[in-house]
Amino acid sequence: MFETVIGLEVHVQLNTKTKLFCSCATSFAERQNSNTCPTCLALPGALPVVNKEAVVKAMRLGYAINADVNHTSYFDRKSYFYPDSPSAYQITQFYNAIVKNGELFIDGADGSWKRVSITQAHLEADAGKSIHAGAISKVDLNRAGTPLLEIVSGPDMRSADEAVDYLKKLHSLVRYLDISDANMQEGSFRCDVNVSIRPKGQEEFGTRVEIKNINSFKFVKQAIEYEVERQIEAYEDGVYEDEVWQETRLFDVDKGETKSMRGKEDSADYRYFPDPDIRPLIVTEEMVAEAKCIPELPAQKVQRYIDKLGLKKVDALILTAEKELAHYFEEILAQDVQPKNALTWLTSELLGRLKKESLDITSSPVAAAKLGQLITRIEDGTISGKGAKELLDHLFENDSEVDVAIEELNLKQVSDDGAILEIIDTIISSNEDKVAEYKGGKEKLFGFFVGQVMKVSKGSANPQKVNELLKERLG
Ligand code: ADP
Ligand code: MG
Ligand code: ZN
Repeated sequence: MFETVIGLEVHVQLNTKTKLFCSCATSFAERQNSNTCPTCLALPGALPVVNKEAVVKAMRLGYAINADVNHTSYFDRKSYFYPDSPSAYQITQFYNAIVKNGELFIDGADGSWKRVSITQAHLEADAGKSIHAGAISKVDLNRAGTPLLEIVSGPDMRSADEAVDYLKKLHSLVRYLDISDANMQEGSFRCDVNVSIRPKGQEEFGTRVEIKNINSFKFVKQAIEYEVERQIEAYEDGVYEDEVWQETRLFDVDKGETKSMRGKEDSADYRYFPDPDIRPLIVTEEMVAEAKCIPELPAQKVQRYIDKLGLKKVDALILTAEKELAHYFEEILAQDVQPKNALTWLTSELLGRLKKESLDITSSPVAAAKLGQLITRIEDGTISGKGAKELLDHLFENDSEVDVAIEELNLKQVSDDGAILEIIDTIISSNEDKVAEYKGGKEKLFGFFVGQVMKVSKGSANPQKVNELLKERLG
């Protein structure tokens, strides 16, 4: 039996207005090479100046993961030659990162939280892009110098599912913190996966392989599963030493396989050294205060939903995974409805309808306050659950007010005793035999009477009232 060991390195593109060391805009989709200046083009003599917004955002992540935030840190040069890096080195934090010793909690196998250590998070500048078009290659440096935060986990994950859960939790966290849009398709949240195996019980780690730049949760899972199988097979065939070595691999999405890309560089290959152009990064008290402005985070929300709202953990996890969904849920609650009703109407009814139309919660045609009013009308007995579904369908298509739509669609339940009693009495008098049977002990018949009343009222009678009044009449 083998155990899988996984450690993740995630590159998060920080959503700052300007680049890490110059005042060029970070916006996408500009004309090629238009967001550039002497600094990000690495022209001789141009000096980098550290972007305070990027530093504060890195610090904010640090505080959110209970890490040590270094009040003094440094930038270093990582040398490598590639056309998309005009300076032939990347500015990063190698010797002393701004964030160290953090943690993130993922869903453990037994329903508890599992702690994953975050060794460090450091600031670095992104490279540009090479564009290969047939026989010619072009370089676009719009992205060069964009701030990245590289978040490095400890080798703490033990399955592909745990790795994916870690990534989802981290993705959700950086979005809650508003430090990145974390758009995976656009590359603002990219991850390198380190995978090794070892026989169960063995203390020492196996040889790790790094799979670079995977841009979806699904591919992370597939890549890990493929790689684990490859390594186990090599081990069992007695060729582990030959086939598993420290290298960088790529995941081929079409084939679902990882492929050797290059041997993993040793850090010596990069000839790291402190960047002489950049002074030590010393953070001010003002920056600390700004970075500590942290909204309620998903893990805290989960706990509050369980403790204060009486929700189950599974449901709390669903509601809080995306900050937009959690905000929507909390806006429904602002209408003073029961949390469980809000949960049901949001997750089973609204999300289902949104999914059918390929919409997400931020583009819901029904606003949270309106869904809250709809739930209020169920709770105060004005409409039935069935009527509410019809109402929601209507609100999905039409921009009408809840109470107006209830009138228009004729959804009001009859709760008035007199009207219901009238129906009950006709039914009792035309079913004397059944009434006698019921009174003689055949209690199952109660459902029959309820059914009859509902039928005659065409479903408009308030079922709770019908039950009460029937019990009274039948004695
Ligand atoms: P490097 O400096 O070569 O990049 P690190 O020590 O920074 O190496 O580790 C990089 C990543 O690899 C980290 O996320 C770490 O948790 C992970 N890792 C290290 N050893 C292993 C291993 N044996 N199996 C799986 N992941 C590992
Ligand atoms: Mg590393
Ligand atoms: Zn620039």
